[in-house]
Amino acid sequence: MDLFSERTQFLGTESAFKIGEDIRRCEESGMMVVKLNLGEPDFSSPDNINEVAVNEIRKGNTHYADPQGIISLRERIANQVSETRGIAVDPERVVVSTGAKSIISYTFLGYVNRGDEVIYPSPGYPIYESWVTFMEAKPVPLHLEESKRFRFGARDLEHLITPKTKLIVINSPSNPTGGVLTEDDLADISRVVLTKSDGNMRVLSDEIYEDIVFDGRKHKSIASVPGMMDRTIVMSGHSKSYAMTGWRLGYAVMPTVEEAMLFRQFNINFISCVSPFIQEAGRAAFENRENREIVASMVSEFQKRRDFVVDSLNRIEGIHCVKPEGAFYVFPNIQEVCKKLGIIDAYETLPDETRKSTSPSSLFQMFLLYHHGVATMDRRSFGSIGSEGEHYIRLSTAASMDVLKEGMRRIEKAAKDSEGFRGFFERGEHFYLGAGEH
Ligand code: PLP
Repeated sequence: MDLFSERTQFLGTESAFKIGEDIRRCEESGMMVVKLNLGEPDFSSPDNINEVAVNEIRKGNTHYADPQGIISLRERIANQVSETRGIAVDPERVVVSTGAKSIISYTFLGYVNRGDEVIYPSPGYPIYESWVTFMEAKPVPLHLEESKRFRFGARDLEHLITPKTKLIVINSPSNPTGGVLTEDDLADISRVVLTKSDGNMRVLSDEIYEDIVFDGRKHKSIASVPGMMDRTIVMSGHSKSYAMTGWRLGYAVMPTVEEAMLFRQFNINFISCVSPFIQEAGRAAFENRENREIVASMVSEFQKRRDFVVDSLNRIEGIHCVKPEGAFYVFPNIQEVCKKLGIIDAYETLPDETRKSTSPSSLFQMFLLYHHGVATMDRRSFGSIGSEGEHYIRLSTAASMDVLKEGMRRIEKAAKDSEGFRGFFERGEHFYLGAGEH
């Protein structure tokens, strides 16, 4: 009998958590690594929010709470989602959980059977693909294209929907591309969803970056399109908006109370509840008006950094980068650099087994890290199924301007360093993350 269940072999991961080991190895060898790999704001959670949690702990608010989420927070979330999306939201349809990530798990566990088809964005947040394969569902990646600024519409989606489609995941603003779907895109997509699927198919709308949009844009949700709230799980949370990633606070607005009850039951089975003092702090995040300014100034800083990084990258020969409209990532195309440095040819010479674990963009990522001391994420980290031939990396702008400047300087140097790449490749040590581990 095997130790682990058969299903565990299909579980993916999030390389953003894996790269730490490689960075540590570089640092131990004396390198100063510029970290442009981070998937969380480089700001701290606001003091006024921290204070609430500390006071609640002191007051003894440290016991189990309502598994669905305390009613005062659910009411606040209902108001917030209702105001920002222009839809009616009953707190009974709100479920609070540990980070937005739990909502992804519950959605897959609650709706998807083995063999069902799941459409999800690629490149996209890697946990979507991980759950598709883990549930032994059929992955149907919706490939986002640079030429469309990583947006998509009805025509891109329509041919992917079949009678077996159970779930469509959308994510705007997007990790890793920074693409933002417009109101027209969402209306277009909704038309297809409403005409091509029955009432038992769901859309998971991952809106975790809802507050981080640039150039005066306003976040738009598919749930605002008439008829869509009945079919959409709106998912968001405090992690990115309030720089509260370590607090683990997220939520879903469900199409029906019945579905909210299922997610409540998942909470009971997995976590019992979210810590009550964290929920109180989460409520304060919405209620204290000071936080609106704090969020706005963080977003304006991210926008400044985006402008700097995109301009710098576009000045490097062989790299071109679309200007993201939201989130705190940029997703440059590195195909020409890969060609110029001989990475694509080098990749072709690798044995089949090694080739399966890497890609030209992964080799560039590892060269940047081990040879030039810049940590980034490769294309494969954002859904590997069908990603062959796509040459991109993700850089995070969750780093100070000084760090970003140093990062750009190093990437520019690396983009000309064919000699360096040859040496790196000949050493044959780090062709993918964790390659040196046993
Ligand atoms: N969805 C996307 C697109 C993300 O980028 C992330 C975090 O990086 C999450 C969900 C998870 O958010 P949380 O930390 O609240 O679980």
